[in-house]
Amino acid sequence: MNQEDDSKAKRPDQSVHSVSNNDGSVIQPRIATSKLVPTEESLAFSERIAKELDLPFDREQTAAHSQELSTRYFKDIVSVIAEFTKGITLEQGSTNSLEAFIEPYQSEGWVFIDDHLDIWLFSLNKLVLFKACYHTTDEEEAQLSEWVKRYLSISMTEDPHQNNLVLREETRKLFINYANLLPVANAMSVSMMIFIICHEISHHYLGHLNQAASPSSELEADKLAYELFLKVAEHKDRLKSAQIDESTTSAPALMMVYLRGLSLKTLGADIGTTQHPPASERLAALIEMGKTTWSDTSRERFTELKLQFEKLSLGE
Ligand SMILES: [Zn+2]
Repeated sequence: MNQEDDSKAKRPDQSVHSVSNNDGSVIQPRIATSKLVPTEESLAFSERIAKELDLPFDREQTAAHSQELSTRYFKDIVSVIAEFTKGITLEQGSTNSLEAFIEPYQSEGWVFIDDHLDIWLFSLNKLVLFKACYHTTDEEEAQLSEWVKRYLSISMTEDPHQNNLVLREETRKLFINYANLLPVANAMSVSMMIFIICHEISHHYLGHLNQAASPSSELEADKLAYELFLKVAEHKDRLKSAQIDESTTSAPALMMVYLRGLSLKTLGADIGTTQHPPASERLAALIEMGKTTWSDTSRERFTELKLQFEKLSLGE
């Protein structure tokens, strides 16, 4: 969610960001994206889950929906805050990493959202919700903790996509036996993804596209993003995909808790750089804005899930 990458999980190609179109030249997006969602195996997986849950499954419809998930959110967001989104093109796909960024492209803003982010956030939500909602034995808690830590390490592995598939298969039991958690996990992921898209829109709107990334521009983008996010939430009833429930307005803050966990796991500390503030600083700013905007349910959910995530991610 920086102009470069918020995952702190540096891949070799991520330093290639420093492009400039000051000379008016046309700059190609730096990555060739592939559509991650849906792969044949992920469709087969969904079909199997639907079958086990005795739910109808339309393979083509599912494929079409997941292929354009961020695009559908983006369309809804644009319908609410059109004045902030002029000159922005959204691209969804996968570079096999956890990232979202903006780039100048043919004098426009090119916002890229990696499909991995959605899957990653949804998976963490699911595990943390399980811990919060059910009494777990020591053995179950150790297993949940191991899964959470592996999700936090996934971007360091050689093939995140493959590792994601392995983890998804291992955690399948939770899908099947506790399917009632899925709508909540999904509602939280939707809110998180909308916040990410609003964050990138904010960078563009605030003119960050032609500036070097800095901690203050990140915090500035978060602040506007949260305001835009609340505007989208206000229009929940007339939107098809970008539906933010009143109980999930704290989800962006919870995502910062996850990103802090990611920093701790991948870098050993939640440290900022000249470009990025530490996740804890972004978290503190969102909590501050939440003081006047979160409902009691939203606040309680944040407090509980933050606690459970920290137990699972830091537990021995
Ligand atoms: Zn950013």
